[in-house]
Parts: sequence; C-alpha cells; structure tokens
Amino acid sequence: MSEKMLKFVGIGQQTPPKRSIEKRSKDFNEIYGEFINNKAKEQSSRCSQCGVPFCQVHCPLHNNIPDWLKLTAEGRLQDAYELSQSTNNMPEVCGRICPQDRLCEGNCVIEQSGHGTVTIGSVEKYITDTAWEKGWVKPIKVKKQKNQSVGIIGAGPAGLACAEELRKSGYQITIYDRYDRPGGLLIYGIPNFKLEKFVVERRTKLLKDSGIKFIQNFEVGKDASLQDLREKHDAILIATGVYKARNVDVEGNNLKNIFPAMDFLTASNRKGLGDKVKLFDDGTLNSENKKVVVVGGGDTAMDCVRTAIRQKAASVKCLYRRDKENMPGSAREVSNAIEEGVEFLWLSSPNKFLGSSKVEAVEVQKMKLGDPDFTGRRKPIIIENSNYKLESDMVIKALGFDPEDLPKLFNSENLVVSKWGTIKIDLHTMETNLKGVFAAGDIVRGASLVVWAIRDGRDAAAQIEKHLNSIQSKKEVAA
Ligand SMILES: Cc1cc2nc3c(=O)[nH]c(=O)nc-3n(C[C@H](O)[C@H](O)[C@H](O)COP(=O)(O)OP(=O)(O)OC[C@H]3O[C@@H](n4cnc5c(N)ncnc54)[C@H](O)[C@@H]3O)c2cc1C
Ligand code: SF4
Repeated sequence: MSEKMLKFVGIGQQTPPKRSIEKRSKDFNEIYGEFINNKAKEQSSRCSQCGVPFCQVHCPLHNNIPDWLKLTAEGRLQDAYELSQSTNNMPEVCGRICPQDRLCEGNCVIEQSGHGTVTIGSVEKYITDTAWEKGWVKPIKVKKQKNQSVGIIGAGPAGLACAEELRKSGYQITIYDRYDRPGGLLIYGIPNFKLEKFVVERRTKLLKDSGIKFIQNFEVGKDASLQDLREKHDAILIATGVYKARNVDVEGNNLKNIFPAMDFLTASNRKGLGDKVKLFDDGTLNSENKKVVVVGGGDTAMDCVRTAIRQKAASVKCLYRRDKENMPGSAREVSNAIEEGVEFLWLSSPNKFLGSSKVEAVEVQKMKLGDPDFTGRRKPIIIENSNYKLESDMVIKALGFDPEDLPKLFNSENLVVSKWGTIKIDLHTMETNLKGVFAAGDIVRGASLVVWAIRDGRDAAAQIEKHLNSIQSKKEVAA
C-alpha cells in the first residue's frame, strides 16, 4: 500500500471553494472553484483503498475510483486521467453534476465511519479538466474505417457515449438531432451554474474531430421516418430522451404566465449561449422582478428556482407536497438553493391558480404525510381547510417528464413501448422489437441521470458492435 494513502484520520474533508452567495447568485457561472494541484493530491490521499470499494460498486459506470485516487495522490495525473476516461466518456461532466451523495460518495466507507467522504466527484472533475488543459484529451484516430454505418437519433449523453465507443471501433457514425446544437439536456436543460456550456461544447467538438457526423435541426418523424434511417444504416440507436412535461391538473392551469420548466430553462440557457430568444427578450420567460412560484421537488425544480434567483426575481418560492427529507432532488442542490435565498414551502401543493387572464396567485393547500404507498414512500394527504393564497405572477411547473408518443412521432406504429411510453428493449441485447434498432438512456429508463445515460450508451455500443459483427460474418460466409 502506498504511504500516500489512508490519510483520512489526519486530513479533514475539503471540497473546492464555493463562490460567495453574494457573487454566485448574481451570475450564471459554476459555483465551485477548482482544486489546486496540492489540494487534489491531499484529498485523494484520504481514500482508504478498500478491498471491496463500495464507491465503485455504486457508481453506475463502475469507475475504478480507488486506483485513480491513488494515482492522483502520487502526482501521476496523466495516468489517473487515462484510467478515469477508460470507463467514462465525460468524467468532467459527471464530476460536476452526478448526485454523488446518492452514488459514489454516499457509499464511501470513511463517510460511513464519520470522517466525511472522499470528495470523489471534485477529484474526477479536476483530473479531466487538467487533462483538457494539458492537451491529453485527443480525438479518436481511426486506423481502418469499417464499411458499416450506425445512425444515432439523439445527441444527448446516451447518444454521444454510444457514438464515441463505436467510432473507436472504426464504424461510420451519423448522429441526427432535432435541436440546433448537440448535447441534449446537457446544453438546453441543465443550467450553466451547474455545468458551463464550454464543457459540453469541447466534448462535442472532439467527437466531430474524431470523424463523427452530426446532422442538427433534423427531426426523425418529420425530416425522415425511422424506416428511412433503417434503410440507410446497418444499425440504429434511439436515444431521444423524455420531453413531455407533466401537467398540474388543477383549476386555472391554462392562465397566462404558467410555464413548463423546460420552456423556462431552455430560454435561459439559450440567452447564456448568446441566442436571440423572443419570449425572453419581450419579458415573457424572464423572471426579473416577478414573484415566482415553482411547483416540484426534483432536480429540475431546483434548477428553476436557482435560475429565477439569478434573473433577479422579486421572490422565489418552491412548493413541494412532501417534506425536505423526502425530496427527490439532490440534497446538495436543495441546500445551495436555500443558501441563495429560495424559500421552500414543504408539505404544500397547488389547489388552484387564480387570476383573470394571467396568474395572480396560487391557492395552496397544506399536506401531511400518511402511510407508505406501494413504493415505500409516505403518501401526502390533504389537510382539510388549510388553504391559503400565495401571490404570484409567474408559475413554473417542474413535475417531471414522460416520453413522447414515439411510435406515432416516428411513423413507426410497430415499435413496441411500455405502458409508460418508454421504449421496450431486450435487457440483454438492448435491441427493440425492430431488428437492428437499439435504444438507450432516458427513453428506455424514464427521466434519470446523465451517468446512467452514459452507461446505457456504452452498453448499447457493445451490443450494436456484436450485432454488426454477426451481420458481417454472415455476409462473409455467404460470399
Ligand atoms: C433541468 C434538468 C436538470 C437535470 N440535472 C441533472 C443533474 O444535475 N445530474 C444528472 O445526472 N442528471 C440531470 N438531469 C437528467 C439528465 O439530463 C438526463 O437523464 C440525461 O440528459 C438523459 O440523456 P439522454 O441522452 O437519454 O437524453 P437527452 O439528454 O434528453 O438527449 C436526447 C436528445 O434527443 C434529441 N431528440 C429527441 N427527439 C428527437 C427526434 N425525434 N429526432 C431527432 N432528435 C431527437 C433531443 O433533441 C436531445 O438532444 C437533469 C434533467 C433536467 C431536465
Ligand atoms: S461518474 Fe458519478 S457516481 Fe461515478 S465516480 Fe464519477 S461522480 Fe461518482
């Protein structure tokens, strides 16, 4: 065992410095600073190098965390980078936005023993940010391109990870996406203060420089059918994510100034990217000076409340029907939101939206928690006669997302989906019921996490490669 490790008793836990609340709530830049080299080394040296590393077990990518922490502690950063990127296509993205408290760090043994987890995510980000700075991150050089091609629908993390893995094996890859920029929710959903856009843009540029073809503003179902693409490519991956916003089904929900979360976040992200956004520029989707109420308690709701703070809303309130302990959003993001001035109204749910044409107030009803339902979570129950009025001139609905009706949208009624509308795949091969058509990411799992999308994209690449090899061998036998 290296002398440099197991320092968790003597060295306390430190995350990279957070910018002051005063400064960070006035701009959209990321809120955490960078580790300096010595700090990254020191924090990595706290790892206890467990025989069975629970951090690795609970990382969806099974990243070889103890080994890259050891290499960082020893100052062998380039080796740490090579190891880290061998299991993760976007380590610097995961290091920034994984809910580490529920994944790797939440299962760190020294966290369990009360010493405070190794700051795995921050070290992962540091290693890859340094690799970019030093020029160690290089485009793929394909020695001998194969004659088979794969069409990927969706340039989010699942599609991008799959594309990269297949390109490494020499396949010709085309990614089709209905947005004007690649990145999926990394570019238009997740705000800059969690993930600055240059981090995503340099990744997609790397893939372009690796010979992957991107066709943007191309909507499958409108610009081509799924069948058209099947005829053009030897295999297809569907990685289109989930975008149908869930509604708040109460009286008054058709009043003006009530918006789905993605409309609000996309407008804000586009402004950050320098785009002209009519509905933002005319004030409709800008929350400046408004009394904002966000309904929901997940990561999307946290992104909305914190975006509204940065747009200088007059007040920002978050309504959530369970209590703080039962919020689905990352605990870290909830506490960042509280620090930045968001007011949380736990155990509260909208009963009605009030106003003549535009929303003027929300009638809120108080809730209490009852017995657990079939999922094990305690069910919120309405407290009778507890209603009160909350003034608001902008409401944002952040209650999650469902899949769009893909068989209809793709003009492919024979594509089999589950009762929730997610695409059904064979769990071993990741193939849909259509031969040579695979699926990955949120469109299979339902709304999930970036790290799971990457994992699915990598798994799909391995299965697609098997499928293409078998077609090739059959052709060779027949020839
Ligand atoms: C506001 C918000 C915040 C989030 N924050 C976090 C976080 O902090 N940490 C985390 O891990 N996860 C977070 N997530 C979840 C994460 O972003 C998703 O799980 C992940 O992006 C899913 O990846 P994907 O590739 O499956 O789909 P997406 O990222 O949704 O990408 C799908 C792509 O498919 C394209 N597409 C869709 N339909 C078509 C079509 N018909 N033709 C062509 N292209 C099409 C879309 O344009 C898009 O580019 C957040 C999600 C949201 C909404
Ligand atoms: S990918 Fe996410 S879960 Fe895995 S080590 Fe990195 S931060 Fe932790």
